[in-house]
Amino acid sequence: MQRGFLLILSGPSGAGKNTVLDAVLKRCPDVVYSVSATTRPRRPMEVEGRDYFFLTREEFESRIAAGEFLEWAEFCGNYYGTPLTFVHESLARGEVVVMDIDIQGARQVREKMPEAILVFLLPPTMAELEKRLRGRSSDSNAAIERRLETALEELKAGVEYDYVILNDEVERAAAKLEAIITAERCRVGRSEYFQLVKDIVGEQGVMRQDDESAAH
Ligand code: ADP
Ligand code: 5GP
Repeated sequence: MQRGFLLILSGPSGAGKNTVLDAVLKRCPDVVYSVSATTRPRRPMEVEGRDYFFLTREEFESRIAAGEFLEWAEFCGNYYGTPLTFVHESLARGEVVVMDIDIQGARQVREKMPEAILVFLLPPTMAELEKRLRGRSSDSNAAIERRLETALEELKAGVEYDYVILNDEVERAAAKLEAIITAERCRVGRSEYFQLVKDIVGEQGVMRQDDESAAH
């Protein structure tokens, strides 16, 4: 079995994280999406349990106290957090888990799970970011202004990530994210390398464990 891994997608609100992830998830049935919990009000098109688990502040705080989140943060006045159990169970099944979380959350995950892959999604321009936020027509004017201000700080943090993708065109950005997943899957460390070799050459031809260490 291949070893699963965690891939975090961050970027300013409105950059297109959900849109690009949706495109990738449609094409990759063995990639799973980690649904976050939030105290933000549900947007008209959003579905409980698919887009988020919508909680009150009291419910969220009691889950923090119970240690139910892998990470959590406050973003533009609302709590957001990643339920721990889903991530652990999916990784144990060897799945690739993708999540859309902010830079504070990504830093916490990197601290706890340094092998996580961090990808940053950029909008082409600030004017286009504003256009996308307004075009989504799901947040108040004040919320959009706050997200645009926050974006300037978030853009600086992108340098801490492993990969950067410019979301000029959805299909192009999705193809790049898929390519990153494919490359990460091919890492020797994520495969049962000597099982693969055994499949190729049979039992006798397999290097012993000592040879394996000597080879490194
Ligand atoms: P995020 O998840 O980063 O907050 P969304 O995926 O909700 O952003 O995208 C914000 C808006 O921008 C949506 O209305 C979406 O359809 C649009 N959008 C996303 N990517 C592109 C793109 N490459 N070109 C044009 N519009 C886009
Ligand atoms: P939105 O309200 O637009 O859905 O998300 C706002 C921000 O919260 C985005 O930057 C998104 O990446 C982030 N976010 C969503 N879920 C989580 C989460 O579970 N943890 C953290 N830290 N951030 C999240």
